[in-house]
Amino acid sequence: MIPKSSITLLDPIQTHYYQPGLTLVGAGLMNLKQNRRNQKDLIPSGVKWIEERVTSFDPQNNSVKTESGTKLDYDYMVICTGLEIRLDMIEGLEDSIKDDSCPVSTIYLPKYAEKTHRLLTTIEKGNFLFSFPNTPIKCAGAPQKICYIADDILRRGVRPSTSLHYFTRLPRIFGVEKYANELMKVVKDRDINLHTRHS
Ligand SMILES: Cc1cc2nc3c(=O)[nH]c(=O)nc-3n(C[C@H](O)[C@H](O)[C@H](O)COP(=O)(O)OP(=O)(O)OC[C@H]3O[C@@H](n4cnc5c(N)ncnc54)[C@H](O)[C@@H]3O)c2cc1C
Repeated sequence: MIPKSSITLLDPIQTHYYQPGLTLVGAGLMNLKQNRRNQKDLIPSGVKWIEERVTSFDPQNNSVKTESGTKLDYDYMVICTGLEIRLDMIEGLEDSIKDDSCPVSTIYLPKYAEKTHRLLTTIEKGNFLFSFPNTPIKCAGAPQKICYIADDILRRGVRPSTSLHYFTRLPRIFGVEKYANELMKVVKDRDINLHTRHS
């Protein structure tokens, strides 16, 4: 512990989801309840937690303001606001994912990870499409992981009546050539159709 320091965390979120585990929720290897924690149980003792959103920075004066209008001074600030997922930027996507009867889902948001698993274990035939979008995303590997997991689940029964397609905006399956070469063997072995430069 650093002597004489005090640490304040500003974050309005009270429920923590272990995001890498959402792929496993999609796979049916854990459920959402197992993935979830109370944020307060994860904050180390000695750290002061203010459950508020930061609304503005004033770096000239070393201060931030929160949504309640409170001004806080700091010596050092670490900003790690993550990414906000904007399903609304693709027309129709949000409504399709929200609709339980519509076979569209995502593992990127906790509330739909279990829907993903339900779709993978109930659809018996047709095309399964997986996408790596044309935007910054939280985990570059997750779209491929869920695609390989889907293949594994479908091979327990209905794989012959299905086909799997992986769409990526990249010119190859993965940015790093060494891994891309290995992954090409995986998609070939698993009979997954790769579509590059596709948004
Ligand atoms: C499906 C999936 C699979 C993944 N798999 C892996 C994996 O296998 N390996 C791996 O390394 N990574 C994986 N990741 C990525 C990993 O989870 C993220 O990189 C990590 O969660 C990002 O952490 P973060 O703290 O930057 O952002 P986040 O986890 O998004 O946290 C940002 C926090 O900032 C808070 N915040 C935002 N704006 C404000 C504001 N104005 N004021 C105060 N607080 C604010 C939010 O409430 C949030 O709590 C995966 C992610 C997903 C979604």
